[in-house]
Amino acid sequence: MKIKKYSFGIGDRFANQGEAQLKAIIKAKEAGIDITPVWNKSNREHAIIHSEPSDTRAEADSAVKALGWTDDYFVDADHINLSTVDRFLDSSDFFTLDVADYIGKPSTAEEIAEFIENNKKYLGKLNIPGIDNPFDISEDTLKEIGSKFLFAAKEASKIYNYIADKKGAENFIPEVSMDEVEEAQSPVEMFFILSALAQHGVPAQTIAPKFTGRFNKGVDYVGDINQFAKEFEEDLLVIDFSVKEFSLPENLKLSVHSGSDKFAIYPLMGNLIKKYNKGIHVKTAGTTWLEELIGLALAGGEALELARSIYKKGYGRMDELCGPYATVIDINTTGLPAPEEVQGWDGQKYARTLRHVKSDPDYNPNFRQLIHVGYKVAAEYGSEYTDMLKKYAGIVGQQVTENIYDRHIKTLFGL
Ligand SMILES: [Zn+2]
Repeated sequence: MKIKKYSFGIGDRFANQGEAQLKAIIKAKEAGIDITPVWNKSNREHAIIHSEPSDTRAEADSAVKALGWTDDYFVDADHINLSTVDRFLDSSDFFTLDVADYIGKPSTAEEIAEFIENNKKYLGKLNIPGIDNPFDISEDTLKEIGSKFLFAAKEASKIYNYIADKKGAENFIPEVSMDEVEEAQSPVEMFFILSALAQHGVPAQTIAPKFTGRFNKGVDYVGDINQFAKEFEEDLLVIDFSVKEFSLPENLKLSVHSGSDKFAIYPLMGNLIKKYNKGIHVKTAGTTWLEELIGLALAGGEALELARSIYKKGYGRMDELCGPYATVIDINTTGLPAPEEVQGWDGQKYARTLRHVKSDPDYNPNFRQLIHVGYKVAAEYGSEYTDMLKKYAGIVGQQVTENIYDRHIKTLFGL
């Protein structure tokens, strides 16, 4: 299996919006951009919602059937490792091998020596075609990078081989992720990470580094945009060079996690992938749930009432809900409206506060991030919540499609 040039991680918390999401991908195709949909859901989400990977597979298959989609699509076991992969084996054909937790774990002196030996041709000035200045690589540089990333690369290899044994190496797309850490990986680090992955037999087709800046869930990029542009461009060139140097899959591409809503950097990402004729994978799954709440608020009456209650409960349980997402959210609590205030809002006001339209004076990123992590509250409503989604499927689905197509795809691809 090979993933094509452009792909989007969609998927959603409650496995209800498959068709609405696929509609956005179909609109892109009609506009001339071929995007492969990948329904992703992490073990963490499944645990919080009490759902199963087979639910994601069912959602994807039924959306594809209903809308007559005949191109590729995948189901991503997002952020798995050896301890969590088993329940995903049957339903997934895309696996995100998450090795972030293994960064910095020690390798033996022999392993580090072997890593240095394997990369000794890059000692001195490392020239990567397209990058103006060469990188200075000493044995110490290699030792440092090896000490930091070699263990993680070996762990990726263990997970990859485990899945390949069970499913057959040809039957899934392997992604390697190391995005959920505080410290960004530089382009030169990525070069040697790819070297280590290749040496340990991991034919990654997508790689998700931690980029410079903050990729908070559901809100815009925070950081130095020029620095991001420089590193993103270098990462593209590093990938190009690595594919040739290490015989990695030709279609290897960057994967942008927490990629939804990064509108400030979408145009430059879009321009750079066009400039170098590279592919990209963008994970946007989390925001679909926000669109559900926007749709429910706009539906008014009982649906608006439920949307208000979810905020109220989330507000009261902020620490608990934010805990698992500490590295990927940034909520200024003084900017949050009191639940009593929200009680007085109409559907339009609720929707505008939540919807990510920066020019709208009502838009509140603190409100949006708290709702983002508040899906656990909606999950506790069980069928009361999902029945409401079904009852108001029209207006909810419209928000979902519009969000993915109008705000994400159009901005990224400059349509
Ligand atoms: Zn991620």
